[in-house]
Amino acid sequence: METVTNYFGSEVFNDTVMKERLPLETYELLQRTIKNGKHLELGLANVVANAMKDWAIEKGATHFTHWFQPMTGITAEKHDSFISPAPGGKVLMEFSGKELIQGEPDASSFPSGGLRATFEARGYTAWDATSYAFIKDNTLCIPTAFCSYGGHALDKKTPLLRSMQALSRQALRVVKLFGNEDVTRVDTTVGAEQEYFLIDKSVFEKRKDLIYTGRTLFGAKPPKGQEMDDHYFGAIKPRVLAFMKELDEELWKLGILAKTEHNEVAPAQHELAPIFTTTNIAADHNQLTMELMQKIAKKHDMVCLLHEKPFAGVNGSGKHNNWSLSTDTGKNLLNPGDTPAQNAQFLLFLCAVIKAVDDYQDLIRISVASASNDHRLGANEAPPAVVSIFLGSELTEILDSIEKDTSYGKKEKETLRIGVHTLPKFTKDTTDRNRTSPFAFTGNKFEFRMLGSSASISDANVMINTSVAQSLKEFADFLENSENFESDLHDLIKRTISEHKRIIFNGNGYDDQWILEAERRGLLNLKSTPDCLPYLLHEKNVKLFTEHKVFSLEELRAQYEIQMEAYCKIINIEALTLLNMVNKDILPAISGFTEELCRAYNQKKKTGLTLDLSYEEALISSLSGLTGDLYEKMQTLESAMDRRESFEDVGEKARYYKDVIFASMIEIRSIVDEMENKTRSTAWPYPTYGAILFSVK
Ligand code: ADP
Ligand code: MG
Repeated sequence: METVTNYFGSEVFNDTVMKERLPLETYELLQRTIKNGKHLELGLANVVANAMKDWAIEKGATHFTHWFQPMTGITAEKHDSFISPAPGGKVLMEFSGKELIQGEPDASSFPSGGLRATFEARGYTAWDATSYAFIKDNTLCIPTAFCSYGGHALDKKTPLLRSMQALSRQALRVVKLFGNEDVTRVDTTVGAEQEYFLIDKSVFEKRKDLIYTGRTLFGAKPPKGQEMDDHYFGAIKPRVLAFMKELDEELWKLGILAKTEHNEVAPAQHELAPIFTTTNIAADHNQLTMELMQKIAKKHDMVCLLHEKPFAGVNGSGKHNNWSLSTDTGKNLLNPGDTPAQNAQFLLFLCAVIKAVDDYQDLIRISVASASNDHRLGANEAPPAVVSIFLGSELTEILDSIEKDTSYGKKEKETLRIGVHTLPKFTKDTTDRNRTSPFAFTGNKFEFRMLGSSASISDANVMINTSVAQSLKEFADFLENSENFESDLHDLIKRTISEHKRIIFNGNGYDDQWILEAERRGLLNLKSTPDCLPYLLHEKNVKLFTEHKVFSLEELRAQYEIQMEAYCKIINIEALTLLNMVNKDILPAISGFTEELCRAYNQKKKTGLTLDLSYEEALISSLSGLTGDLYEKMQTLESAMDRRESFEDVGEKARYYKDVIFASMIEIRSIVDEMENKTRSTAWPYPTYGAILFSVK
C-alpha cells in the first residue's frame, strides 16, 4: 500500500507542484502576488491555468469549478468541462487564465439579503490564490471569493480575508514597536476540532425529522444514554474505524492535516481534530472535512449528523476554534517568550484579546448564532450564551499583580514590572483544566468553544479578527506616540486589565451561579438568535466593521437579514415536519394502539369472568387523555402557523417563530414523548432514541 507521505496532498496544486510545473519566473511572480494579496495579471494567469489544467488532466480530471462559500454556510460549485471544439469533430482540453481568475456563476438563488438587484443577479467569483486548487470528484476546484458586481461580499470567504488583512495591518504596527522589523505579515492561525454523530442509514431513513431537519423533533429518553461516560475515548467500533480510516485518507490526499480521531461523550458521537493552519485555509479545509464526512459515511451505510443538537438530553456537537496569531517569521504571538521584552509583547497581545472579547461580546455571540446552535449553548454540555474568558489561575494572578502593583509568586520581592521581569511558561496543563469556558486560553492560543458543529468557521473568525484588530489599533495609536515606551506600555496593560477584567472567569461556566454573577458584572446574556442578531447593527459595531473595511453598512444589513430569515426558515421547516409527523404517523399510531387495547379490554369483559382490567383501563384512559391534549396543542400550533407570514419586520417575525411557534413545538414534543413511553414498541412509528444512538454496532 502506498504510504501516507507519498499520497499526502496528491490532489492539491500545492507549492511543490507549482515549483515543478511552472517556469521559475512565473512561479516567483505568482508567489509574490499571493504574498502581497495583489490581483493576478492575465498573462501570468494564462501560464498558471495551463499548468494547472495539464496537471489536473493527468490526474483524471475532466471538469473545473469555481468552488465558493455562499452565505448559506455550505459550499457551492458549478462544473464546466475543459472541452472545446476542434476541427474534424474533435475536442481540445482548454482552460484559460480568465477562467481561472474569474467566473460568473448564475447564482441568483443564493441569499444576498437584498445586496444584489435582480438586474445584476450574476455575482462573480474570483480566485483566492492563497488557498490551493485541488481535485475532487474528477473536478479541478478553484477556491474563490463570491461578490456582487457592485463589489459587495456575497460569501463567507471575502469578509474573512478582509478581517485577516485588518488584523495583520494593526498587529504589524504593534510588533514593530517591539523592534520586530523583519516581520511583514501577521496571520491568524486556526485548528478547528469537529464533532459529529454517526448513525446507521436504516434508522435515519425511517425518521422524517432527521431527513428534513437534521435533528429529532421527538424521542423519549433511552434507558441508557451517556451517563456512564463509557463512550468518551472508548474503543472505536470496527465500522466507525473503517469510516475514519477512509476519511483520513481522503483528507490527506487533499492536504488536510487530519490528526486526531476519537469517540466523544455521547453514544455515536465522534471528533476529528486537524493540525492548525492559516485561517482561510482552515476554513476551506473545515468545509471540505464536513462534506467528506457526509459523503464517506454514506459509503459505509451510515449517516453523519452535523446538526448541533440532533438528540434532546444527549450532548450536542460543537466545533472548537483554536485561534492564535503568527508572524510570517514563524513566531506565535500568544506564546509567552523567554525574555522580558518578548513577555511584554505577549502580555500586550493577550490584553488585546481580553479587551476585544469584552468590548465585542455581542459580536462574538452573534458569530455562533443559529437556530440549531441555540439548542446547545447554555445546555449544560456546551458553554453558556454568556461570553467570558478563561485564563487559568497562574496567568490571572500575574495580571492581578500587574493591575494592583503587588508582588507575584513566592520568589519575587519586587512588584512585577513589564519589560523587566520574565514570566513562567504556561503549559497546557496549567491552563486547560476548565472545559466549560466559552473562550479559554490554552497555553499559546485561545480556544473558542461556542461554535456549532455545522457552522462555517468564517463567521467566528471574522468577529475575533476584527475585534482584536480594533484593540491593537487603539494600542498602537497610543504607543506610537509614546515618549517613554516601557512605562506607557506598563500603564496601558494595567489599565486594560482593570477596565476589562470583568470578562475573565475561571470558574464553572455550567453553573447557574455564574449566570447571576455575569449579570452583576454587566456581561451580556443573549440567549437566542433573535435576541442577539439586532446587536449586529448597533452603532459601535457598524463603526468597527466599516473602519476596518470588513463589512460595509449595506453588507451588515444584508447579514442581519439573511441570518434572521434563515432562523425563521429553519423553525418553519421544523414546525411543518412536526405537524406532518404527528398528523400522519403519531396520532394514527396511538389511535390504532388504543383501539387494540379496547379490543383486549372488551374481549376480557366478554369472558364473563371477574378479570383484572386495571392495566387496560389505566392505559386507555391515559392515552386518550394525552391524545386529547396533543390534538388541542396541534390546533394551537396550526393556527399559530397561519399567522406566521403576517410580519413585515424580519426581527419581529423571528421573535414570533421563537416565542410562539417554537414554544408550541416544545409542548407538543413533551406529550408525544410521554406517549412513546406508554406505547407498545412495535406500534410506535419511528425508531427510538435507543435504536438510533446504538444503531452502529
Ligand atoms: P483539545 O482536544 O484538548 O482541545 P487538541 O490537542 O485535540 O486539544 O486540539 C488542539 C487544536 O489546537 C489542534 O487542532 C491544534 O492544531 C490547534 N493548535 C495548536 N496550536 C495552535 C496555534 N498556534 N494556533 C491555532 N491552533 C492551534
Ligand atoms: Mg478542544
